[in-house]
Amino acid sequence: MLEEVNNENISLDPIAELNTPSIAEFSFRPLNFNDYIGQEKLKEQLKIMISSAKTREACLDHLLFFGLPGMGKTTLAQIIANDMGSNLVVTSGQALEKTGDVASILASLKNGDILFIDEIHRLRPKVEEMLYTAMEDFAIDIVLGKGPTAKVMRLDLAKFTLVGATTRLHKIANPLKDRFGMVFHLQEYLESEIVQILANNSVKLEIECTNDALQKLSICSRGTPRIAIHFLKRARDLLLHNNTNLLDNDQVDQLLNKIGLDFIGLNHQDRKFLEKIYFDFNNGPVGLSTLAAAINDEPENIEDTIEPFLIRLGLLQRTHRGRQLTAKGIELAKTMV
Ligand code: ADP
Repeated sequence: MLEEVNNENISLDPIAELNTPSIAEFSFRPLNFNDYIGQEKLKEQLKIMISSAKTREACLDHLLFFGLPGMGKTTLAQIIANDMGSNLVVTSGQALEKTGDVASILASLKNGDILFIDEIHRLRPKVEEMLYTAMEDFAIDIVLGKGPTAKVMRLDLAKFTLVGATTRLHKIANPLKDRFGMVFHLQEYLESEIVQILANNSVKLEIECTNDALQKLSICSRGTPRIAIHFLKRARDLLLHNNTNLLDNDQVDQLLNKIGLDFIGLNHQDRKFLEKIYFDFNNGPVGLSTLAAAINDEPENIEDTIEPFLIRLGLLQRTHRGRQLTAKGIELAKTMV
């Protein structure tokens, strides 16, 4: 049976926090490739590109990282900048509202700088067009004045590297995508890799953990480092509350119970999602927007946070006609009455 949610001391759900990187997250970011766990193939390719750029004394090709929130895209940009000995300038697709915004950032870059644009699929078309010439020719065209007397002035830029990050590769127009020298897809982390990330961060948080406890937390972390680290911080809060420094199975059980996670790591919203498909839509197939309205959530959040985990657990399948539970999902849903 699923246990009741009890939020008396711990109010923050690490899964709900997925899209909100905390300010303190910077202190948890690995600074070099050695401390960046997993993504081995990607790291290998990146290291080759970096070493080639260094040997040629050229700036690194533009790079695009594609992966779910919290998978380590921003961290990689930081590691690349450290490795290249470059300055990192961070902004996001939403923040660059006007062409003037992007023009002033581009004009301020120096040779070798790395410009990181998070959520690059959110760029406005005019801003995106300005990036085309910036990426290809290291120059931008600025329009001075208005109407018939308007003049176009070409402004040369420093040779910089654009690192873009996106959770929605299909929303990036081909002319932009084609200007990246390499598109990297961040893969879901293995449970053993999440255990390693948890173990490394437990040292930073100065808490001791048993192997069983790390294993259990890893299972609930949805293959996502940010969720794992958030769990660990909530565990640290609980340990302080319980006046102990050892995170063992019992403490993890208390934590999961307080956050409202069941024994396989499903939260309230996951269970509601499964229940709706099975009971209200007769196991579908049911469309994403219909489901989003039914559980009062954003389609993007469902796609990024809920579905990948349910699919990983073998409970859900996405077909071209909509969402449906698997036989295993149906068995679980039946216990939710
Ligand atoms: P994204 O930019 O994809 O949303 P971040 O780079 O902000 O994700 O990573 C979220 C958190 O997880 C950060 O604290 C980061 O240090 C940690 N993290 C992400 N990937 C790894 C990894 N491969 N190894 C260790 N820590 C990681």
